[in-house]
Amino acid sequence: MRLNACLAAMPGGYLFGEIGRRVRAYEPGAPRPIIHLGIGDVSQPLAPAITEAFVRAAREMGTPQGFHGYPPEQGYPFLRQAIVDADYAPLGVRLDPDEVFVSDGAKTDTSALPELLAPDARVAVTDPVYPAYVDANAMAGRLGRHENGEWSDLVLLPCHPGNGFVPELPGRQVDLLYLCYPNNPTGTVLTRAQLARFVEYALETRTLILFDAAYKAYITDPAIPRSIYEIPGAQQVAVECCSFSKSAGFTGMRCAYTIVPKALTGEVDGRSVSLNALWARRVACRQNGVAYPIQRAAAAALSPEGRAQVDAQVRAYLDNAHRIVRTLQGAGLEVFGGIHAPYVWLRTPEGHSSWDFFDLLLHEAQVVATPGSGFGPAGEGHLRLTAFNSAERTQEALDRILAVLR
Ligand code: PLP
Repeated sequence: MRLNACLAAMPGGYLFGEIGRRVRAYEPGAPRPIIHLGIGDVSQPLAPAITEAFVRAAREMGTPQGFHGYPPEQGYPFLRQAIVDADYAPLGVRLDPDEVFVSDGAKTDTSALPELLAPDARVAVTDPVYPAYVDANAMAGRLGRHENGEWSDLVLLPCHPGNGFVPELPGRQVDLLYLCYPNNPTGTVLTRAQLARFVEYALETRTLILFDAAYKAYITDPAIPRSIYEIPGAQQVAVECCSFSKSAGFTGMRCAYTIVPKALTGEVDGRSVSLNALWARRVACRQNGVAYPIQRAAAAALSPEGRAQVDAQVRAYLDNAHRIVRTLQGAGLEVFGGIHAPYVWLRTPEGHSSWDFFDLLLHEAQVVATPGSGFGPAGEGHLRLTAFNSAERTQEALDRILAVLR
């Protein structure tokens, strides 16, 4: 049997696997309970409006009239319409429900969307980056060889304090450019003008932008775009992935959606082809949709009552993020992001690599962070902290970190 050589050649051990290994090795002898500010999972329970809708839909499924079999592959019309009305119309973005594709996760979609492109399509990502984008393209054989920690055919766009975490435009022609704002891992955002520059570039060069807006709920300033479609022309060049995971606590429920506008076209043998039609075709042959109770629960998160409840949860995470930023800046660290995002990115103190500082915080503060180098070469010398723990635990973690820094 001949296996996928690209998959076999991938560097082993996903970042969180190595973190887990180090934590498990240390934890039995730790002097006090460990506090996790590492992995990006939410901690608050589902909001009441969501649970009620979920339970109601599950009960419906047990009645002859309310039973639902296979869901529509692209999502139930009630959810697609709610997304258009509640998420996009208030931004002045007009979408057709047929441009919305409901799925079980933004990870699924951001990894699968490159299937729209030619097998040898050239890919660009920001550096540091959410690792799933790179892994998916590596498995598909698009990234060439992995040498000295880098993929030979991947275009990296470094983001660092020197450029204000605003990536340069790709220096060579690419087919697909991943952008994620608010950014994981740096927690930074792009202004409207900065995002418009990427849209203009994509229009000029016929590049597809995959805009990952999984954290858009954390933007509190209307001047910062929540959707790439707030930029004129973006519907001709961008798909947008969104998720209920971090906006409504759905990491364990699994529901997300991707927008593939009908205005978006690419070329096959010189012919213009609709990406919406291509994605609909691909979705129909690869998946059977998301469970009815989950989609009802997701729609409840978009209702006025549900929105108020989930917004309060997001606000609590943001309060944690702001507290982390203030406290660590006060301690003299260089801190980035964390204002419109649940992630705070900090520069490690002089002389510490990402993993050194990770180990120091684990062993001296019993706090788990995420080493920046795990997100790409430009992440070296940085660390990511997340705001998803409780206010009390976050404060305790900060007190412990301050004690180590003194
Ligand atoms: N995109 C980004 C940038 C993320 O950070 C994450 C999760 O951490 C995801 C997508 C995954 O979202 P989902 O839970 O919908 O698969």
